[in-house]
This record gives sequence, structure tokens and C-alpha cells, in this order.
Amino acid sequence: MVVETERDDATWYECEECGLLLDAHDEAEEHEQRCDAKDPTYVQ
Ligand SMILES: [Zn+2]
Repeated sequence: MVVETERDDATWYECEECGLLLDAHDEAEEHEQRCDAKDPTYVQ
């Protein structure tokens, strides 16, 4: 899931699965769709 977070007077979107920060909500959602952390069997 994507969470909104404020940092340095800017709004960031964080992937809850892996903690990645993105500056665009669309990008964050897109990332989340294929986030590796979501699928444990994919982690090497
Ligand atoms: Zn992620």
C-alpha cells in the first residue's frame, strides 16, 4: 500500500512494502503493483 509522507516541505509517496519513496502518487502506485517485497518467493 502507498502512504503519503511529508519531508523537506514536500509530499512523498512511500511504498509500505519496501519503504521506497517516490515523488509522484502515480509512480508510487505503479511501483507498488510490481514491488518485489510483495512476493516473498521472488526475493533471492
Ligand atoms: Zn516497494
